[in-house]
Amino acid sequence: MGSQPGPMKSDVPVTLRGAVDAAAAQSAFFQRANTLSAAFMRRRGAVLGFSLIALVAIALADLSTGYELALSLLYIGPVAAATWVFGYRAGLALSVLATAAWLITDFFAEHNYSLAIYRYWEGFIRLATFALFALIVDQLKRALARSDNRMIKVLEGLDAAVCVIDPATGAILYCNRPFDLAFPGDARGHAAQRLLEAAVVFESGDGTGEELPLGERWFLVRGRWLNWTDERPVLLLSATDVTARRDADALNREREARLQATARLVTVGEIASSIAHELNQPLAAISSYVLGALRRLRAGRAEPQELAGALEQAGEQAERAGQIIRRVRDFVQLRQPVLAALDLNALAARAASAAAREAERSGVRIELQQTPGLPPAQADEVMIEQVILNLVRNAMDAMGSGVGAVQSVEIITSRGERGALKVTIADRGPGVAAEIAGRLFEPFYTSKADGMGLGLNICRSIVEFHGGRLWTTPREGGGAEFHFTVRAALDR
Ligand code: ADP
Repeated sequence: MGSQPGPMKSDVPVTLRGAVDAAAAQSAFFQRANTLSAAFMRRRGAVLGFSLIALVAIALADLSTGYELALSLLYIGPVAAATWVFGYRAGLALSVLATAAWLITDFFAEHNYSLAIYRYWEGFIRLATFALFALIVDQLKRALARSDNRMIKVLEGLDAAVCVIDPATGAILYCNRPFDLAFPGDARGHAAQRLLEAAVVFESGDGTGEELPLGERWFLVRGRWLNWTDERPVLLLSATDVTARRDADALNREREARLQATARLVTVGEIASSIAHELNQPLAAISSYVLGALRRLRAGRAEPQELAGALEQAGEQAERAGQIIRRVRDFVQLRQPVLAALDLNALAARAASAAAREAERSGVRIELQQTPGLPPAQADEVMIEQVILNLVRNAMDAMGSGVGAVQSVEIITSRGERGALKVTIADRGPGVAAEIAGRLFEPFYTSKADGMGLGLNICRSIVEFHGGRLWTTPREGGGAEFHFTVRAALDR
């Protein structure tokens, strides 16, 4: 990753953001003091040497200029530096030394007081001024430490592991206790490295963070850029342990897959029993036609015309049995459903053209009403096309042979509830009576002489497998509407 900071991003958790913003809200003065403080603290010996040398230098300069330049005020400098680095006592000691230096040099100066005691009075006033100044500096430093502590307490109180990393060196500049607990010992450096790599996401970032495996667990990692106390750009990273949630998700997915497998088994069972049921009729008829013909042949009273009639009937019944099997196979080809993002408008158009020839034969026109700009659906193309086709066939059946004006079936795509996509197949047939609306979806319910009563049941299984639902409503002005929904591809 580059060493330049990206734009500030607000992708830290709310609590952490609060703490960070509170720190950012510290006055500019505090921030500058912090920077200076860090520099001072790194060079304690140098500060002590500087304070003492400055003290002597001020004394000599003050003496050589005969006090006329009032240089003794500069003693405040070493007093402040010593107080900041070594505390109030050191400040007080420097104040005493500075006052002593002033007194000693004052003796050498030709400085007259109307009363000798005034020299000592002036020395005392200076000492009090220096000491007061040391006290103020000391209080200031404590206030700064308290404000830092408040921020650290917030960070320590978080459940998330938080750390500040210098991207230039990879060094961890700060980490809270949860971080230490989550990544003890050697894991610490490794975790920092992985977090840093993940931080690339934040530069290109969508701001939602990234789930990463760190060690044996999974963490949701979020980050933002900050300026550290010495102004260098650093990364503040938070890692929340999401292992338990991921495990639960995986378990749910497994359970869902098992449920779907069961639902498919149920459907297959229903289909098998329906095939048995449906095939029984034509097979029984074939058997009786053939046996009848055989009986006549054996009895020697077989009229060729009668025989031909019986065999023709048997052939028709065999054709019907074949039709039943073909229709079932259309639905239940033994293939795994393949869910992919697909354009529902294009799919509806394909289904419409697939049904066009059949529609023409029954004198029905298929009309498409596509809502433009629909998001892609997450669905198995073949299965959903089969559902549309089946609903269109039902609609055509319901409208009969199209006596009178040209009748039309409409296929309408639209947006459904909660981000889902909706397809409606509307007809001008007799409609569905309210009392049987619920039963249509039961297996074997049919009002047609050659119906199997399975289509709607299978359609519903397919739609529910896709996380949607299938239902019917009466159409305004007469007819029926069948609606089903499928999830949008992003709505997983
Ligand atoms: P099948 O088409 O083999 O009868 P379905 O399960 O597809 O099986 O349909 C069950 C029943 O639902 C049909 O027999 C019919 O009575 C009713 N039905 C289906 N679609 C419509 C429709 N568009 N209008 C009126 N009734 C319908």
